[in-house]
Amino acid sequence: MSEEVDLFVIGAGSGGVRAARISSGYGAKVMIAEEYRVGGTCVIRGCVPKKLLVYASRFHDEFEDAAGFGWTVPAPKFDWATLIANKDKEIDRLERAYTANLDRAKVKIVKSRAVLLDPHTVKLMATGETVRAKHILIATGGAPSMGKDIEGREHVISSNEAFHLKELPKRILIQGGGYIAVEFAGIFNGLGSEVTLVYRGDNILRGFDDEVRTHLRGELEKRGIKVITKKIVEGVEKVDHGLCVGLSDHENIVVDKVMFATGRRPNVKGLGLEASGIKLSPTGGIAVDEYSQTNVPHIYAVGDITDRIALTPVAIREGHAFADTVFGKKPTPVDHTNVPTAVFSEPEVGVIGLTEAQACAQLAKVDIYKSTFRPMKATLSGRDTRTFMKLVVDGTTDRMVGAHIVGPDAGEMIQLIGIAMKMKATKADFDATMAVHPTAAEELVTMRDKTATHVRQAAE
Ligand SMILES: Cc1cc2nc3c(=O)[nH]c(=O)nc-3n(C[C@H](O)[C@H](O)[C@H](O)COP(=O)(O)OP(=O)(O)OC[C@H]3O[C@@H](n4cnc5c(N)ncnc54)[C@H](O)[C@@H]3O)c2cc1C
Repeated sequence: MSEEVDLFVIGAGSGGVRAARISSGYGAKVMIAEEYRVGGTCVIRGCVPKKLLVYASRFHDEFEDAAGFGWTVPAPKFDWATLIANKDKEIDRLERAYTANLDRAKVKIVKSRAVLLDPHTVKLMATGETVRAKHILIATGGAPSMGKDIEGREHVISSNEAFHLKELPKRILIQGGGYIAVEFAGIFNGLGSEVTLVYRGDNILRGFDDEVRTHLRGELEKRGIKVITKKIVEGVEKVDHGLCVGLSDHENIVVDKVMFATGRRPNVKGLGLEASGIKLSPTGGIAVDEYSQTNVPHIYAVGDITDRIALTPVAIREGHAFADTVFGKKPTPVDHTNVPTAVFSEPEVGVIGLTEAQACAQLAKVDIYKSTFRPMKATLSGRDTRTFMKLVVDGTTDRMVGAHIVGPDAGEMIQLIGIAMKMKATKADFDATMAVHPTAAEELVTMRDKTATHVRQAAE
């Protein structure tokens, strides 16, 4: 007879682990299946290892900038193998910590792929056993989408492999314009690779405020990253001295590595969703309501698999809310508005809320406040870089509806602006806040003059 549980969680990533631990805390008998490594994308091959590589890449500027402050630094040498080994050690430690937390919470972990046989039965592929579950949570995340099949596709890596390269490529071409592409461009550039970024659209970071996109592109180019837009990779061929990449305008570029960061797709394939009658959303994720409930009432889905907002804190919040709703008897919807987010490019980007264009499309009157300035550190280091900040304000209510920052520590700043915006802060609240001097963030409370006001014409 197969084992019976109150909750079976498929996928031990950000959303699944949180949901399993909290549900168990409410007294549910919980089992969680993981086919790869406990911790999921964020811990094993996403946010955490990525940020560690970002830290590594930023020492490059620190060594250079030190001279303007009187330091003489011997020519620094970088060893990729040391970085990767230390990063792997930290990821192993985190995986053990996640496993221990699940054990402590009395969640049973099974190291296996799990698929649905019917709406209440899960099959563990490693052993062939089946488990009966009163509730099922699908938290299987997403995977790199490599686009259409091109010639030489076998030579192309995704972010998954980028974390395990044997050596630092001297020359790398990255296709993509989203945050992962831009972040890896900064990582490899900072570590000393020659980087080419190829993107099919007009400009990088589609969906971000247009001036953020233009400003960041300019900063990347100043750092020596070659940004090629409106082109795609049509094929990759192995040649004697590397990989020859053919672009859509017949230009050829020879590099040592080719990476595609062309989006991610929800892991829905082969899960047995049809057998359970679970419906997908138009974008290919599992369709859910505000409680993360699917069309099959005892089956829920959280995180990247639902293709709502693919970020770790969102997956965690959804997983927690699921546990509160189903086992804590506290129905808890998740508010997906005003989610602050960062791009760990060089320089960093931090954004929240509406872009200028979105605000103009949605509101009757929009006030814009903007500032571009040289970060104080650059005055002595001599580095050619500028910080950009923009506040988007509802001109009718004075409410802050968007904030966009490109510059050092933008991610840290946007987290705190997020609190203010959740509290419905107005521009007058920002103005009434005393500045912290000398900081870059003080600019956010000292922008007095509107740079633009947009008034929507009444519909004719
Ligand atoms: C390179 C990169 C950088 C990122 N950086 C950031 C960042 O800086 N900040 C941020 O907020 N987000 C970042 N993200 C996104 C973040 O990692 C995801 O949003 C988050 O991990 C989603 O959590 P999840 O629980 O939905 O899925 P995941 O964390 O992906 O976990 C899903 C788990 O399910 C397992 N699984 C899949 N199918 C099955 C099955 N059938 N049976 C058993 N197990 C299965 C997978 O192996 C995986 O471990 C990044 C992602 C990538 C790829």
